[in-house]
Amino acid sequence: MLYQRSSQLFAEAEQVIPGGVNSPVRAFKAVGGTPIFIKEAKGPYIYDEDGNKLIDYINSWGPMILGHAYEPVVNAVIERAKKGTSFGTPTALETEIAALAVSMVPNIDKIRFVNSGTEACMSAIRLARGCTKRDKIIKFAGCYHGHSDSFLIQAGSGAVTFGTPNSPGVTQGTAKDTLLATYNDLKNVADLFAANKNEIAAIIIEPVAGNMGCVPPAEGFLEGLRQLCDENGTLLIFDEVMTGFRLAKGGAQELFNIKADIVAFGKVIGGGLPVGAFAARNEIMNYLAPLGPVYQAGTLSGNPLAMAAGLEMLKALNNDTDVFKRLEEKTAYLEAGIRKQLDGANVVYTINRRGSMISVHFDATPVTDFKSAANGDNETFKKFFHGLLKEGVYIAPSAYETWFITDALTYEDLDATIAAIGRVAQTL
Ligand code: PMP
Repeated sequence: MLYQRSSQLFAEAEQVIPGGVNSPVRAFKAVGGTPIFIKEAKGPYIYDEDGNKLIDYINSWGPMILGHAYEPVVNAVIERAKKGTSFGTPTALETEIAALAVSMVPNIDKIRFVNSGTEACMSAIRLARGCTKRDKIIKFAGCYHGHSDSFLIQAGSGAVTFGTPNSPGVTQGTAKDTLLATYNDLKNVADLFAANKNEIAAIIIEPVAGNMGCVPPAEGFLEGLRQLCDENGTLLIFDEVMTGFRLAKGGAQELFNIKADIVAFGKVIGGGLPVGAFAARNEIMNYLAPLGPVYQAGTLSGNPLAMAAGLEMLKALNNDTDVFKRLEEKTAYLEAGIRKQLDGANVVYTINRRGSMISVHFDATPVTDFKSAANGDNETFKKFFHGLLKEGVYIAPSAYETWFITDALTYEDLDATIAAIGRVAQTL
């Protein structure tokens, strides 16, 4: 495959955009080479500026769960755009999507829409601090909750790919209120509670982590966090930016039957437009302005184009009773195929998967937290990534990312991917 035009476009972008990208992981820093500039996409495929067709396993990092250019979403956006793109006033559409989201997700009465997952998590934390009148939060190493200051403390995703887990620009004052815990280690969390009695406002967690590759919660881990929160008057925040409307209609809360106090959303909820949201029971949400004292706002929040896209996406997921089952089956099929090929080529690996989130780590030991995720062999990952790219298969350009499977993938696509992985495995 040739990437001449992508290379040229990247060189031009580097002149006027820092690193040539508007979000770091896109730059291919972790794997080397030139990022691919995408021209258009349809269903499970993306087409780059050089005319290459690729099977997409990133899917805009999650939102395109039903494939690219999903027609009901595209049509809704076009129709809405004709009527005006922003008013800065309430619209009936906002209530419609809010009511649908509230009906799909357990344990929430109200939802507030924002413009990104970062905003959703940032606002969820402020709300938790406002409600509990406490300052400290617990986050887990390797979890990523967006780029707001409190979360750039051993964050996953691009923040670890680039080796700057503690970003300059985050003040010591902010950093001291973020307590770091080890994913899947309840004792560690209990110790933090003991050392910070009555000071912890919230635990924030990715209920299935996707920013250190995919790391599912161990049996009993989320239940244990729920219990510790209850015992300590601390709020449990599920960051469902990846898992929401992906692992089940009601997200991880439904899948694991665990109640979170505040839930943050992003990605799927916007159908590919810039949308985030956070939600909770009335007693918590009523703390928010204009009802309560915790301030949060946005000029473009609830934007009609974004809400139209999100509404069509949620409707599609709500009306299709089999979609999450199909996603599970397709991803399980892919997992089995990858295992067969890597075993056949004697490659050392670990695969983690939950539903349609899956990742391959090139290390034999179980990957259960940030430390074990960091053990993976990055050189092998680079070869794997570039080998697949040559084969027309596009996975995330970093080992610290999950793959997001779309329902638009056919079994022929999956077979083609598995065969490509077989050829690449022989070269590792
Ligand atoms: N939380 C999680 C779990 C995420 O994966 C991400 C983004 N990948 C975010 C928050 C931040 O969302 P955004 O990039 O939309 O700000």
